[in-house]
Amino acid sequence: MKEMTEAQKKAKELLYEPAYKSDKDAAVRKAAAAFSEGYKDFITRCKTEREVAVYAEKALQDAGYQLYDDRKQYAPGEKVYWIHHKKAVLCATIGTRSMEDGFRLMIAHIDSPRLDIRPNPLYEAAHFSYFKTHYYGGIRKYQWATMPLAIHGVLTRADGSTVTVQVGEDVNDPAFCITDLLPHLSAEQNKRELSDGIRGEELNILIGSDAVEDEEVKERVKLATMMLLNEKYGITEKDFTRAELEIVPATPARDIGFDRSMIGGYGQDDRVDAYPALMAEMEVKNPAYTTVCVLADKEEIGSYGITGMGSTYTYDWLRQLCASQNADPIRAFHNSLCLSADVTAAYDPSWASAFEPQNGTYAGRGVAFFKYTGSRGKSAANDATAEQMGYLTRMMDAADVAWQVGELGRIDLGGGGTVATEVARYGIPVVDIGVPVLSMHSPFEVVSKNDLYMAYRAFSTFAAAQD
Ligand code: MN
Ligand code: MN
Repeated sequence: MKEMTEAQKKAKELLYEPAYKSDKDAAVRKAAAAFSEGYKDFITRCKTEREVAVYAEKALQDAGYQLYDDRKQYAPGEKVYWIHHKKAVLCATIGTRSMEDGFRLMIAHIDSPRLDIRPNPLYEAAHFSYFKTHYYGGIRKYQWATMPLAIHGVLTRADGSTVTVQVGEDVNDPAFCITDLLPHLSAEQNKRELSDGIRGEELNILIGSDAVEDEEVKERVKLATMMLLNEKYGITEKDFTRAELEIVPATPARDIGFDRSMIGGYGQDDRVDAYPALMAEMEVKNPAYTTVCVLADKEEIGSYGITGMGSTYTYDWLRQLCASQNADPIRAFHNSLCLSADVTAAYDPSWASAFEPQNGTYAGRGVAFFKYTGSRGKSAANDATAEQMGYLTRMMDAADVAWQVGELGRIDLGGGGTVATEVARYGIPVVDIGVPVLSMHSPFEVVSKNDLYMAYRAFSTFAAAQD
């Protein structure tokens, strides 16, 4: 091998060049592919926050977690969980150190952008029946037409009973869709701005076209559809007023690429962080610090509501855990550290002008840490300290976890926030982390298997940290 010149030595020593570390590590790529199998099954089966909560509760019970009881005291190594209003998951492993030394928190969200059915959804037009929808979260509306859709959710009936709905996922199920104009007649629609290509009031779900035979009835197709729903679910039209029905893409997660190095599927924001965080929490044994994993709801609409991170339930739970040890919660919060996990935009060469290449996050380079998120001059950013970034990145280097740093995109083009600011409100130090995603918020998002795996390795390393 040729000897390095002085300048080459200096370049190696002094300059930072982000690398695709997994390119040179076949064992990592193999482990990432294996880890991805469970993940693909998870995002195919869990397309709503409620479905994640059901999945997580079963997995937690299988892993030896007990349902949390606020009158009980838990010993180091014990594992407890709590499901909050069926849509948020809290789970913890009690550490050997006092809780006053702080918690190690991992928080991700399990709601994803989608279409919700409106309170009065059912109508008939031109011998078709439809559901009206109201979109949830930041979607680009034109992306949701002309593709198979499924309906997931619950209805509460007049007698107080609840019925769970999931239709459109099985290949033998019927599916649903939103129609669009044919190119031959789209001259007027083509003049609309892309953001206006399909409007909110045009996101109507096609659900039937058979009519009852009796011509004396006014809305024959609507009634025929309602009769089928009554037969299958025991509901009447009034029960839509007390329902939570979510429209999601009806497609399963798939490997992407000839090399199967990526995963395509719906709802990876933010389940691509939620899944590895949950796996890391479940696997942790006798940690020094009490580890806490929170899978929260409502991030996509601003973390509002009883199951969003703007609610006090997570901090209340931490306080209750402290109380069982007679630990001071303020001291515990101040000594804690939180990884606020949410996806980021992967640099997309087909849309290069939206990014700043030197500060982009790249699919395949590993899990991304963010000092700050936000928009227009870091507005609404948590802006972690240099010390927190240093502590975590040194920890990741020591464990050989591939990581990168960056920003969401070009300055002043847009931006976005995370739950980190909600956590910081309670005096808990917090750093943003996440997996880069292509086509984020679309019905079919793409991630790198290596990044998913590195997110898992990062959470595992963090949860097991001794100091
Ligand atoms: Mn997100
Ligand atoms: Mn999002």
